[in-house]
Amino acid sequence: MILTFWGVRGSVPVPGPTTLKFGGNTSCITIERDGHVLIVDAGTGIRALGEAQVGTGREFYLLLTHLHADHLQGFPFFQPLYRAGERVHLMDYRHDSRAFSAIELFDGVQVPMGPTTVKADCECSAGNPLEYLRAREFHVESIALNHPGGALGYRISNGGRSVVHITDNDLSYEDGAATSFDAFVDFCRGADVLSHDAQWTAAEAPARRGWGHSCVDDVCRLAMAAQVKRLILFHHDPSRTDAQVDAIQQAARRDLAAAGIPCEAAREGLRIDLTSERDR
Ligand SMILES: [Zn+2]
Ligand SMILES: [Zn+2]
Repeated sequence: MILTFWGVRGSVPVPGPTTLKFGGNTSCITIERDGHVLIVDAGTGIRALGEAQVGTGREFYLLLTHLHADHLQGFPFFQPLYRAGERVHLMDYRHDSRAFSAIELFDGVQVPMGPTTVKADCECSAGNPLEYLRAREFHVESIALNHPGGALGYRISNGGRSVVHITDNDLSYEDGAATSFDAFVDFCRGADVLSHDAQWTAAEAPARRGWGHSCVDDVCRLAMAAQVKRLILFHHDPSRTDAQVDAIQQAARRDLAAAGIPCEAAREGLRIDLTSERDR
């Protein structure tokens, strides 16, 4: 199982000279095994993924955490969609009795392309998306997140290894929270990798209560309580420069040193091989 980060930025893409190290593209990660590629979210990072893997014969499975634009806006630029013979499985995102498939973006209005421009063999999941994935040997569990409009976090397991990806979630959100801090601890317990939204610093968080993101200190507290083996800070604020992300990463490393948990800020191109434990 190989975890790769293609887009790590929150809210809006921010390309430019101050984001070259960690990257300016919005949310997209993949978890890959045996020629099957599970894509979580289709932010602008999905464009580079498509260009890297079009024509490789891999099968793609798209799973969404929620429908905010920074998690969906890259999908029309996923090259395998426009090539006959590619196989793309689309999981419905289901919330409040509504099901949404990313293929609905191809309406000729939101994007210039209509559905007939898609040449890939696209299969849309019918029924529960996690059961659809389990039938294809991706064991995925979900948890409701504390985020305006709702969102889902995922734990993906294969071969005794597990990755938890929780983006767009406020760990400190108490009034009307979908999920308590303790329930997140249970969900993340013992994961090989925890990738979690860490958009705010502790100083910023009080003024942004209710926006649905976490401060780094709470994310470190979760990593320690759940005894995860490695922490990745995800969904960097769009205003954050590389130097600022570096500083947040250093502070988190100091917090986690006593617990012996390695920590880094997600960056485009970060690849973690959970089979060999070697990073490439
Ligand atoms: Zn987001
Ligand atoms: Zn969001």
